[in-house]
Amino acid sequence: MPLPPLVAPASELTPNEVRRYSRHLIIPDVAMDGQKRLKNAKVLCVGAGGLGSPALMYLAAAGVGTLGIIDFDVVDESNLQRQVIHGQSDVGRPKAVSAKESVAEINPLVQVNLHEVRLDSSNVMEIFSGYDLIVDGTDNFATRYLVNDACVLLNKPYVWGSIYRFDGQASVFWSEHGPCYRCLYPEPPPPGMVPSCAEGGVLGVLCASIGSIQVNEAIKVLTGIGEPLVGRLMIYDALEMTYRSVKVRKDPECAICGKNPTVTELVDYEAFCGVVSDEASEATAGSTITAGELNAMKERGDDIYLVDVREPAEFEIVRIPGSVLIPPRELPSRLSELPQDKPVVLYCKTGVRSAEALALLKNAGFADATHVQGGVTAWQTQFLGDEPLY
Ligand code: ZN
Repeated sequence: MPLPPLVAPASELTPNEVRRYSRHLIIPDVAMDGQKRLKNAKVLCVGAGGLGSPALMYLAAAGVGTLGIIDFDVVDESNLQRQVIHGQSDVGRPKAVSAKESVAEINPLVQVNLHEVRLDSSNVMEIFSGYDLIVDGTDNFATRYLVNDACVLLNKPYVWGSIYRFDGQASVFWSEHGPCYRCLYPEPPPPGMVPSCAEGGVLGVLCASIGSIQVNEAIKVLTGIGEPLVGRLMIYDALEMTYRSVKVRKDPECAICGKNPTVTELVDYEAFCGVVSDEASEATAGSTITAGELNAMKERGDDIYLVDVREPAEFEIVRIPGSVLIPPRELPSRLSELPQDKPVVLYCKTGVRSAEALALLKNAGFADATHVQGGVTAWQTQFLGDEPLY
């Protein structure tokens, strides 16, 4: 269903703007009116990472008048494989600043507002209220529910995208006209069940595929052209090279946009999504060791059984010497391989998957089992100099 334009047109375009945007102006559906609406538009991009990079670059090039960038992270070398708004010389610099400079180079007519903060319940409403539309480039569930709820409460369209390995999804959540993110995903997945891109990897160019869909939809909503992705979920498979869209209906029972909402203000999203499950946090209490403690055990020659609960590709990149690989999905059926007569020590990349694995072991009677806080990453920064961080 076509929707009216979100933004009123600016009064005029300067001759400079007419030259710059001429390829838009000669498209009848965009034309002068649409370009003036883009000039007047204020779009906020949450995250200047994988999806934020192409989104910000194309929003800037398209002539969106005001762009907000929320990011508190710094550019890491491992970002450059996909976060094309940053360059080699930006490594170690704030992403927000680096992104602002790239936007200025693409289109100096764009006003850029930086928000170098961690978005949370205390600042989201104030920041969002200054924008017409929110583009989400984050990769964690707590932030997605936070962004969704703030958008529902403020009645702003929420252009969402998600990427993992070769798979991408995108939609426009807008409770006034269709479903919200909670209508599609009422509950966050159990902690540790859905690996992040940092844990599972992502094909760099997938960011461009999904980020460009997000910009495409933002432009349509801002200018009121075409059929926006409201009430539809776009699913992209880069290996099969298929796009399909499925209908998403507004859930009358939705906790925030349904008939009898139970969520009427922002909640604690970290707690709602749980960094680790209750079971895992119970299991890790008193059964967590540091990388330094593990190193001391190894130097003393303690008889321990060290289990790496990551995926084979991660094990190939870096591992703690003397460890045995058992991927998490194989662990339940391979418990019999674990010794009952010596302490089992588990580790993963950062300590989330190993915490979940520890809960499984404790339930199976491995009372002495422990896991390594911070995982192989913590070990690596302290005890392995030359191995690649991934
Ligand atoms: Zn909803």
